[in-house]
Formats: sequence, structure tokens, C-alpha cells
Amino acid sequence: MSSIRTRFAPSPTGFMHVGGVRTALFAWFIAQQSSGTFILRIEDTDKVREVEGSINQIENSLRWLGIDWQEGIDKGGAFGPYLQSERLTIYKEWAQRLIDDGRAYADPYSKEELETFREQAKANKQPFLYRNHRPENPPTWDGSQPLRFKSDPKSYTWTDAVMGELSTGPEAIDDFILIKSDGFPTYNFCHIIDDMLMNITHVLRSQEFISSTPKFLNLYDALAIERPVLGTLPFVMAIDGKKKLGKRDGAKDILEYGQEGFLPEAMMNFLATLGWNDGTEQEVFTTSELIDKFSLDRVQKSPARFDEQRLLWLNGQHIRLLSLDDLYARVTNFWPTSAADASEDSKKQVLALVQDRLKTLTDLPTITDYFFTDPLPNWHMIDDSKQLKKLSREEHVELLHAASAALEQSEFDADSVQQTLNGLIETTGQKPGVLFSLIRLSVSWAPFSPALNDTLAVIGKQATLSRIQKAIETA
Ligand code: GLU
Repeated sequence: MSSIRTRFAPSPTGFMHVGGVRTALFAWFIAQQSSGTFILRIEDTDKVREVEGSINQIENSLRWLGIDWQEGIDKGGAFGPYLQSERLTIYKEWAQRLIDDGRAYADPYSKEELETFREQAKANKQPFLYRNHRPENPPTWDGSQPLRFKSDPKSYTWTDAVMGELSTGPEAIDDFILIKSDGFPTYNFCHIIDDMLMNITHVLRSQEFISSTPKFLNLYDALAIERPVLGTLPFVMAIDGKKKLGKRDGAKDILEYGQEGFLPEAMMNFLATLGWNDGTEQEVFTTSELIDKFSLDRVQKSPARFDEQRLLWLNGQHIRLLSLDDLYARVTNFWPTSAADASEDSKKQVLALVQDRLKTLTDLPTITDYFFTDPLPNWHMIDDSKQLKKLSREEHVELLHAASAALEQSEFDADSVQQTLNGLIETTGQKPGVLFSLIRLSVSWAPFSPALNDTLAVIGKQATLSRIQKAIETA
């Protein structure tokens, strides 16, 4: 058993969006590729920002994507509890150790006093540092005051698994709060304790935490903790590359993509390649390929751009990779209502024809409806067609009569329909482009369809002939 242990530690502050899920995914890859352990811990110590139902949302999002955790929320494990609000006594114990070692103290100042310090710093054009006002004789900590870390400001140089070598000066380090006056620890404090107690080997998180990292390093030192591997994932930006991805640019609940007909494996592929590539031109990856090939040193340092068109393209690619049975199982909720009474066999026949054309599963009704129900004739489509508008209405009708008579004689499997169509090209002297478009439209009244012979064969002889007849009548 490998000892690699990674974690995803979201705060339950709302739904999961692309950036958050990508962090989870990369941590999961690292655990998966070494048969390590991926842990789900919920960081719920900021009660003000908490949004009800988020924990469920987080779990469902991970499950939908196929990211399973071996330890943590709902699963338990040797290092629980995995909900931080249930670990308060643990944080208190560690806070006490810091107090006993002279590395933590009660913050005696009122809000107003702190504000005055801040304003003084501003007036002096200096950055505000709490440690410049460290009280000489702080009161005994009774839990009603914030507990602060007594930092040891110094320069750090460290290696980030993604960003490479980073360094900061002592000004990046301050006496930050360990435990707030409401009794809850801060993220800055408790994630360090948890990562240590849970034997986390790799900590991956978003770029927003990078400026806090020197503080974390200082706390690791104070507690004599060996640091885990730290990896900073660059922001996901909107397509223009100028601003962080916002709701308007597609930063929505990851679960919405499932409702919109995206496959989880396409989403996984998309997220994985937001700022990572394997060094080749390959773009479409299966989950097991991703697990195999992923490495932190190929994650790019600059922000990634969220390109929804690319996601759409990848989704189409992954739909093509599915077996017909698998695809059939996934489209249960996406059929047009006209398919309600269709048999499994006929739905599968249709699906096989359109599989290559689906970009999302929600395309299914538009591109399959006419297989299950007679469409309404719409001669404007013929009049607007570049190829067909060259012919007169009489010529259209004459060709449809010829097609109907020939198809009447066909056995109506895909091959015989093709033979009939080939014969029609000869007898009518028309170009295939013209003749086939006319028949296609008169039967489907849809802008696209799969190969004409396949389409007619699946629609069936009777329906094909009656639709052509209807077209003739409405010409
Ligand atoms: N609770 C933090 C968040 O949701 C996690 C940061 C981390 O992974 O350490 O942003």
C-alpha cells in the first residue's frame, strides 16, 4: 500500500463550480495513480458563510463525476471526524500547546483599537501588521478573545509542486488568528492541524491561498510539523483571460452540466485539461488515461481559460466513445415525447444513427423527433434550399412521385433503399445532392439527418411513403 494521501477540503458555502472540482480531481488523480487514499473533509468553521445543503451538493457533484473518496464524510475512517465543526476539542488542544510553548496569545484589542492601528499604518503608508502591536502582557486566554499566533517573521524559499521555487520576505508573515472569539478556529489554523493528523502527503489548492502560504509555513515550523507537498493551482479565467471565471461565463453548478446532457467523463476530461496536458497533442482522454498520465509538473503556472465550446466538442467526442447500450442507458431522460411508446429496439436503431451527431444528450429531441412522429410539411425549407430552389414546384412534385413509385418496390433495408436511390439518380437524371435533399426534406422536414438510406430504412416503408404523399399534397 502506498502512503500517498490527498484530500479535498471544501467549505460548504454553495454549489461546486469548475475551479473547485478541478482541485478535487487533481488530488484524486494523484491518489488514484499510486493506489493511495483520497479524503473528503468538510471545512465548516466559518458559520457565517455556510449555505444549507452544500455538503450534499458537494458529495453529489463528486459522485456524478466519478470521483470517489475512500475516507472522510459519509465513509468514516481512522482519522475522523471529517467535519471540522466536530473537531473543535482537537483544535483547542493544539491551541493550548501553542500557548504553552509561548507561540499563541490572547488578542486584547477591541475592534475600534484595531481599526486605529490600521488607520495609523495607512497614514504612514505602511502595510498593517498586527505583530507591530503585539501586546506586552496579554491576558490569559479565556476563549472570549481571539487567539493569535505569535509568528516568527522570516524569509522563506520553498518549492511549490506546480509553481516551482517561490520566496517571500518576513513582511508576508503576521500574527494571524488561530481561534476566533466565537470559539471556531480559522481555516489558517485548523487545516494545518487536520492535514497533519490525517497524514496528508499532498495539499493542492487554488491560487487564492498562495499569499497565505508563508503564514502556513511559519505555523508548520512552530509546531515542528513536516510539510506536505504543496501544489498551487492557477485560477480558472473567463474565456477572454482577463477576469476570474464568474457566473456569467459559465461558472455554474457542476451538476447542471449533467442536466444539460454533458457526460461526466467529458467534464472530467475538460477539467483535467484546464491547465494540464500530457505533452502531446492528445485532447480526448478516458478517465483511466488521465489517472495514468496526470502529473503536477505538467500543470501550467498561468491561469487556464474556460472555453465552453471546447467542453461541447469534448462531450461529442465522448458520446462517440460509448457503446450503444451504454449510450442508450444514459439517454433515458432525454428522448422526445414522441418516443414515449417506441420500443427499445427502434430507439436503439435511431440512437445508432445519430450517435455521431450528438453534442449533448439534450440534442436528442431535435434530431430524432421525426423518427417517431410525422413531421409537419414545411415547404419553405425547400424553397430556401440553395440546391432545391433552382427547380420549379412542378419539378419537385414530379421527382417526389418518381421517388415514391421506386421506393414502393424496395425491400426497405438500408442496402436496398440505397440501390433504389441510385436507380432514381439514373432514371431522373438528377444530381444526388438535389434528389437526396428533396427526399430527405419531404420525409424529415429537418435540416440534417443521418445517411438518407439509413434514415428511410429506420423510418420504415409505410411512413416514408405516406410522408412523401403528404409532401406532394401540401406542395
Ligand atoms: N476550505 C478551503 C476552501 O474551500 C479549502 C482550501 C484547501 O484546500 O486547503 O477553499
